[in-house]
Amino acid sequence: MSDWSIDAAERVYGVSQWGGGYFHIGENGNVHVTPVPTNPSIRIDFKSVLDEIHQEGVQFPVVVRFHDILRSQVANLNTIFKDTIERAEYQGRYQGVYPVKVNQMREVVEEIVDAGEPFSYGLEAGSKAELITVLAMNTNEDSLTVLNGYKDEEFMRLAMLGCKLGRKMVVVVEKYSELLLLVKVAKELDVEPIIGVRAKMTVKGRGKWEGSAGDRAKFGLTISEIIKTARYLESQGMAHCLSLLHFHIGSQLTDIRAIKEAMTEAARIYADLHKMGFPLDYVDVGGGLGIDYDGSNSTNESSRNYSMQEYVSDVVYGLKEMCDLEGVPHPNIVSESGRAITAHHSCVVTEIVGEIKSDAASVDVTECDNEHVFLKNIRELAEHFEDHKNMHEVFNDATQYKEQALDAFKLRVLSLEELAKIETLYWNIMARLQAWYSTQEYVPEELQELDYSLSSQYLCNFSVFQSAADTWAIDQLLPVVPLTRLDEKPTVNCSLVDITCDSDGKIDQFTIGREITDVLPVHPLKEDEKYFMGLFLTGAYQDVMGDMHNLFGRLNEVHIFSYDDDPEDFYIEEVVKGSSVDDVLNIMQYNPKAMASDVKRAIDKQVAAGTIKPREGVRWTDFYEDCLGGYTYLKNK
Ligand SMILES: *Cc1c(COP(=O)(O)O)cnc(C)c1O
Repeated sequence: MSDWSIDAAERVYGVSQWGGGYFHIGENGNVHVTPVPTNPSIRIDFKSVLDEIHQEGVQFPVVVRFHDILRSQVANLNTIFKDTIERAEYQGRYQGVYPVKVNQMREVVEEIVDAGEPFSYGLEAGSKAELITVLAMNTNEDSLTVLNGYKDEEFMRLAMLGCKLGRKMVVVVEKYSELLLLVKVAKELDVEPIIGVRAKMTVKGRGKWEGSAGDRAKFGLTISEIIKTARYLESQGMAHCLSLLHFHIGSQLTDIRAIKEAMTEAARIYADLHKMGFPLDYVDVGGGLGIDYDGSNSTNESSRNYSMQEYVSDVVYGLKEMCDLEGVPHPNIVSESGRAITAHHSCVVTEIVGEIKSDAASVDVTECDNEHVFLKNIRELAEHFEDHKNMHEVFNDATQYKEQALDAFKLRVLSLEELAKIETLYWNIMARLQAWYSTQEYVPEELQELDYSLSSQYLCNFSVFQSAADTWAIDQLLPVVPLTRLDEKPTVNCSLVDITCDSDGKIDQFTIGREITDVLPVHPLKEDEKYFMGLFLTGAYQDVMGDMHNLFGRLNEVHIFSYDDDPEDFYIEEVVKGSSVDDVLNIMQYNPKAMASDVKRAIDKQVAAGTIKPREGVRWTDFYEDCLGGYTYLKNK
């Protein structure tokens, strides 16, 4: 089509804006993936991935993980810090940690630890279960294990076990009473702990998580508590154990100014502690490095107005300038970026299994005898549509007739068939109004909603609550893109609905050409061709926060490794099966085995009574058991 091109598709879906160099629209109209940006010769066509998933017999929806993207992001962050530190002639090192809460999946943590090995990249844990995880996972003695979150005595003992194993465990004190517990346990076990303090910062990160800082923040010590901590440790002969100053002002920081301000504040605290005789080794700048979900590179809540390089520069130069002014040595730098490491590496692929349209079913509206006047009126409006001068009036009249008709129906004045005809005529008028207004410069507000009410809803075989929790919980925007046919003009406007029985199970916020819209341009469905949507940047939080609303369980997962010598540039390294019905029922305290025998007994009873034939009874029993062991999502041939 002449009025459509790959560039036009790029303008609509903004793939290279949010794609972080990993995702592109290929000339053939399919989404392409370059998981190792330093080696662009590896280029994976998403369509080939879909084909291979199909060949392997894996049911959709699936989570597709690109392990090379994880590795690339780890290398990216570490290299940028290393290069910036060199350029700035900064005296300290970078010793980052990955906060496992962002995605605790074993395969993800393993890949990050492995890719981080050359950089001594460590792990961060914020709960006892996470600490137990990182104790087993982070075996690198050169890297840090940073422990945040509220702690009990058992937590402290586990941390001390890490010290005994030769690991660099940093216990960050979140509230003063933890300090006393830590000192007690450390003395008892005869270990010298590495102690950090989390500062309650006055600067607030702007964005959804701005409550992470400020006077009412849940975590951290005030300045006077930090001083009290230092003095207490001094009194215990442990001043040298105080080693790290930590802050975290929130996730997805949208505005770079918050980072600059936080650096100044933290650097001042560090410098003064140093001058008071507490020479800390590390300043830990926490998480917050944002992802440009909507591709706008702005302070929108789902974006950020800086790059990874700008973030790193602000951290390094911010610390350096203050330390030089204060005449104290440059500390080593720790950061806890989770979102930025994991967001790009995974996406959810769901198949469109149907279309829901407000004007889909039309009935025959031919005139009959003795029609009710409401039906006559609205028919007249439709028949003389073109004659009207004032289209807004047409809208008002049609809307009024429809509302009156509904009342009349309830009062038993209008029949069901007449109501159906009125509805059909109403939507016919609305569609023509929409077409007329699309050529007008000014569209009255109530008529602007026509685009939305006339748009289709594409039914996606997945659950928002399982796979994209933040789009529901905090209105997070995630990029949604058809994976194929992008060389074709999208002529249908739609929002997406999931298969849960919850009207909240939908996605109706998109960024199209930098504007936030409630519909997404997509392609008309074809009888003989499957249509897949990709929900991108789901690797941070979404992957692990989902719940089992309606008993839809975890998705099948496909792990993709790139391989330059392969004709398709990739292979499926592993398929991890998602939850079966059996699995989700077990979690809810059911006993699927007992359920199967209960249903079998009920079937046997019908067989005995002669209402079900014996062979048929066996088939029903097997069928129920097969479904119990099967996937929780729709099975689409
Ligand atoms: C959640 C959290 C992080 C991770 O933040 P991102 O914004 O995902 O990088 C880091 N540190 C702490 C203390 C956290 O609570």
